[in-house]
Amino acid sequence: MSARREGRLTLPALCRALACGALSSLELTRRCLGRLERLEPTVGAFLTLDAPGALAAAAASDRRRQAGAPLHPLDGVPYAVKDNLCTRGLRTTCASRMLENYIPPYDADAVARLRGAGCVLLGKLNMDEFSFGSTTMTSALGVTRNPLDPARVPGGSSGGAAAAVAAGELPFAVGSDTGGSVRQPAAFCGVTGFKPAAGRISRYGLVAFAPSLDCVGVLANTAADAARVYALLAQPLPAQELLPADDSGAGLSGVRVAVPPQGWGPPLSDAVGRALDRGADCLRRAGALLCTADCLPPPETALLSYVALSTAEAASDLARFDGIRFGGPARDPSALPDPAEVRGDCFGPEVKRRILLGTALLSGEFRARCYQPACLVREAVRDGFARLFGEAELLLTPTVPGGAPRADVPLSPREAGQMDLYTVPASLAGLPALSVPFGRDENAMPLGLQLVAPPGREALLFRAGAILEAAGGWLPEEVGNE
Ligand code: GLN
Repeated sequence: MSARREGRLTLPALCRALACGALSSLELTRRCLGRLERLEPTVGAFLTLDAPGALAAAAASDRRRQAGAPLHPLDGVPYAVKDNLCTRGLRTTCASRMLENYIPPYDADAVARLRGAGCVLLGKLNMDEFSFGSTTMTSALGVTRNPLDPARVPGGSSGGAAAAVAAGELPFAVGSDTGGSVRQPAAFCGVTGFKPAAGRISRYGLVAFAPSLDCVGVLANTAADAARVYALLAQPLPAQELLPADDSGAGLSGVRVAVPPQGWGPPLSDAVGRALDRGADCLRRAGALLCTADCLPPPETALLSYVALSTAEAASDLARFDGIRFGGPARDPSALPDPAEVRGDCFGPEVKRRILLGTALLSGEFRARCYQPACLVREAVRDGFARLFGEAELLLTPTVPGGAPRADVPLSPREAGQMDLYTVPASLAGLPALSVPFGRDENAMPLGLQLVAPPGREALLFRAGAILEAAGGWLPEEVGNE
């Protein structure tokens, strides 16, 4: 399937067409639903589709426009959200049997913002169960394939979101990123993924994995599109400096960009090493001054810290799913369920693995031997970035150590963990980070480059991302034609 070149519409083109009446929201929504009907049997990005709700929201947007009301630029644009963001009246499962029948009575803040701006919610996207994973294969409720090669995984845990954008089923999607779950699937599917600084997008209504690391993030066709959605979701309400830099000609004159030294992390594959070199060169040609990032702790150490902290937090968060307070199968309200039975039946193997590991890490001597040192490593990572951003404005790294793996070769937890190697440092430090598609692996699948910035420099991050995208070989055709 060549979904990459066809049908991927970027937001400026869509917003212009809606604004001048060349396209109605209803037409656009019907077009997305038509494409979904054609592609979903192969891609499987959606867990729940709400066609009637989407058509009604689109018709309401068209009525607002006809009435001449002042509209948000994204009014009438279709999108979908990862199934761990609560949607009022629409099933929210976290891809788990535990929440298979859960219908939230409220919207997550991010969803409320998008609804308030008039965006059209198409439905809910597949993910790894409770966001635990790197492939979307731990989903208990469906299989998602990489639209660029259905034999390969889309990445995870926001795999449905990345696949839906890559397949051109919708112009953008909202996911969540704890250790890389927006950036990594974006890289595997050849789209752009943005994780904000900690706290910059409200987490209210996002089912927690590890609250000290969880972020709501954006997947889109371009960095400029991700910036537009971010400007709507950021809190407090968008400040001027958050708005996308519409100065694509501005370049990076004098911007200091740090690149990790040789030996930071395991040796890079040829393809990833080439992509990193070409990316650095492309930023240099745009005026950036390259330097070496030699004050960051090794990514392997950051990864161990991430595993300990995120798993400990996850084990504690998931205690609420016991069939009494939350979750479990539909049941006779007069009989009290047995929590052990409900948890045994409704959680999948990866969830159980993390609960066991996280509980152990918080118990007895492991607390002092593993959990507390992991907290210290997090501090060291934060200090390393603080020093780095005293000397440079941006960090450039690979997003992933390779392209999307095949779906038929199961990964060990260790192999899956390696995919988070370059994304977890920014998560531990709570920094904004962007993955843009850049280069190809030996199977011609996309690779990603990651940019990390200090909080407040998001506009620079998006500008540098757009420069990389233009050279990376994965932009939808239409962008070049604008
Ligand atoms: N792959 C990582 C994990 O399984 C990250 C997941 C995430 O960011 N939600 O922990």
